[in-house]
Amino acid sequence: MNVGNDQPDCDAAAEYLRMAVPLMAKHNVPATPQNYATWYTYVSGEIPELNAEIDRLIQECRSFSAATNVQLYRQFVADQDLNQIDEVRTGLNQILIDVGNSLDRAGNDANAYQDTLGSLATQATQQDDLSGIRSLLTTLIKETRTMQTMTQGMHAQFESKTREVEALQQELQLERKRAITDPLTGLYNRLALIDKLNAVIAEMADGSGPPSLIMVDIDDFKNINDKHGHLIGDRVIRFVAQVLEKNIKGRDCAARYGGEEFTVLLPQTPVAGARSVAEAIRKAVAHAQLVRADNKESLGQITVSAGVATYRRGEDVIEFIDRADQAMYRSKHSGRNQVSIAHDL
Ligand code: GH3
Ligand code: MG
Ligand code: MG
Repeated sequence: MNVGNDQPDCDAAAEYLRMAVPLMAKHNVPATPQNYATWYTYVSGEIPELNAEIDRLIQECRSFSAATNVQLYRQFVADQDLNQIDEVRTGLNQILIDVGNSLDRAGNDANAYQDTLGSLATQATQQDDLSGIRSLLTTLIKETRTMQTMTQGMHAQFESKTREVEALQQELQLERKRAITDPLTGLYNRLALIDKLNAVIAEMADGSGPPSLIMVDIDDFKNINDKHGHLIGDRVIRFVAQVLEKNIKGRDCAARYGGEEFTVLLPQTPVAGARSVAEAIRKAVAHAQLVRADNKESLGQITVSAGVATYRRGEDVIEFIDRADQAMYRSKHSGRNQVSIAHDL
């Protein structure tokens, strides 16, 4: 996933979606966000292997069962999740705009029609032949009603389409949120962190200052699991996640990087600022007194080790994360429950 990518072309995205929808209907594929993403990718032709597989299934007259749809999505599309969802959403937005424009046009047509009828009616009143006027008026009124009914029908149709698309957009938004969120803690996941790191680094081209990254790892976490069980272990992970959230602000971003490892990304933050955030987190965890809800037994002192790195121009995201990680390991080797700063070179 690359956040620095250009936004997908709106018209092309909408066109792909328009092509995908009838194909899905034809093959009885339900309208779920994943299926949209799969068939969107199919019509875009971006992944030839996906097209070959779908073409084969169609040729062999195989049905697109729920299992087949999930398999296609997982095998060919899931990795590109965020980009796909963005593109599908852009397509939907374009359709909404088109619907809005058509609605305006339909409204304008009806207004013009009514203006014409109005002026004809005026002319009719200036005629002397009463029966001619009556018949003219009768025709005019009938046509006006027909036009009104048509316009109302179109409005209703557009409204229902708009609602459908809005519901789909909401589903896609939820899907996108799920794709970037860690389910245990509600923090961003590793995928989202990489995404945000790329964005912050790209932003530095505007001359803004470099970001810093804090890597946080719970000390002797295996012992907590061994002594109290995984469920309590999970609660400790959630507790540390809350501490991170409480100690960041603005555009800072906390993520669960792995099992009991976390990262905090601090855009435009020099090393001194990042070190003090890391220290605040370390202290907040070390000073907490956690007890088990069931038997009130103390969990003992929980501590974390942290490493801080400030971005060096030119390094890639992995090197940046790696330097914060190495600094964190220095904290481990120096006795844990401390913060270390990454070497700059
Ligand atoms: P250190 O101080 O060196 O970090 O020691 P540690 O015991 O914390 O480190 P280690 O990486 O060896 O162990 C991490 C453990 O975290 C291993 C794994 O079983 C556990 N773990 C990973 N993910 C989860 C999770 O989601 N929930 C729970 N309860 N445990 C997890
Ligand atoms: Mg650990
Ligand atoms: Mg670890």
